[in-house]
Amino acid sequence: MTEVSVARARRLAERAAQDELDLLLVTGAVDVRWLTGFTGSSGLAVVGSGGVRRFVTDFRYLVQSAEQLGDDWEREIAQELLAHVAQGLHGRVGFDDGDLSVKQHAALADAVGDDVELVPAGGLVGELRAVKDADEVARIRAATRLADRALEEVLERGLAGRTERDVALDLEMTMRRMGAEGVSFPPIVAAGAHGALPHAEPRDVEIPRGTLCVIDWGAQLDGYASDCTRTFGTGGEVDPRDAEVYELVRVAQEQALAAVRAGVGGREVDAVARDLIAAAGHGEHFGHGLGHGVGAEVHEGPRLSQRSDSVLAAGNVVTVEPGVYVPGAVGVRIEDLAVVTDDGTDVLTSLPKRLRTIDG
Ligand code: ZN
Ligand code: ZN
Repeated sequence: MTEVSVARARRLAERAAQDELDLLLVTGAVDVRWLTGFTGSSGLAVVGSGGVRRFVTDFRYLVQSAEQLGDDWEREIAQELLAHVAQGLHGRVGFDDGDLSVKQHAALADAVGDDVELVPAGGLVGELRAVKDADEVARIRAATRLADRALEEVLERGLAGRTERDVALDLEMTMRRMGAEGVSFPPIVAAGAHGALPHAEPRDVEIPRGTLCVIDWGAQLDGYASDCTRTFGTGGEVDPRDAEVYELVRVAQEQALAAVRAGVGGREVDAVARDLIAAAGHGEHFGHGLGHGVGAEVHEGPRLSQRSDSVLAAGNVVTVEPGVYVPGAVGVRIEDLAVVTDDGTDVLTSLPKRLRTIDG
């Protein structure tokens, strides 16, 4: 792991130098973990040209940080991490303006010397994190497999007649029992008209037969997340209008997924699904972006949306998840997780996409 961390620190320092930064201060916990391998809750890192690799944590992590970072980082123990790290900063120092609070920034600005210029530089680590190496892809693939297996097991216990909350809890417990560290986000289980809320919270309400049920879930495993959505029939007849919405979303999802490859813009891929859904008269019912990157966090770069300026690169891991939400009627979302390659995708999700009805 430490070779990986030295290489990442070097690449990050090079990236910072492109923005004419002498040093980059990394404060976000997930960024620090990606960079250094440190899994504790209190730590920050500084990288810079000439092989600067400083890591600061507090006394509680003395032993853990020694084990996880070895000798590749200059390790320092302090009570006030920011005040401590301020000593020894020089020149143009990038900081994560998406992570530091106004209060923390003020404390840092107070503590640095006169020769330091603090420069907002949030997003630099995220840029590198968006391109996964083989080990990261393997972890995301394992998280996805676990999540897929867990869902299959939960579906054997049926949907109709159970409450949304019961199914969501069952899914969470099943993933944990199978070895997940946790969920990558609380599962969404939303039947009928409730499915028309893209971020519906599971209710203590029985799932009826004869409708659709959106399930959006993911597992956290080995520090990496998965994310997938399927929409199921809940038994008996599915209303033909609902089935039509389902088919529209399925085709939009498959066409957008087929458009994903390195070099294509996040906006272009979004447009493939969006144009198709709009042409079917449901443009106003698809109110979110097509997808997002997934890695150590369930929402990270790149973005696939109307406002995205991301260009996809080989090694990105992204979701493709169009949805149609008809208020008061029904919601359908289908989401796959895929690795971007030079000529297409390596789809991690294994579950079928034809409308499937869960009886029982
Ligand atoms: Zn999702
Ligand atoms: Zn998602």
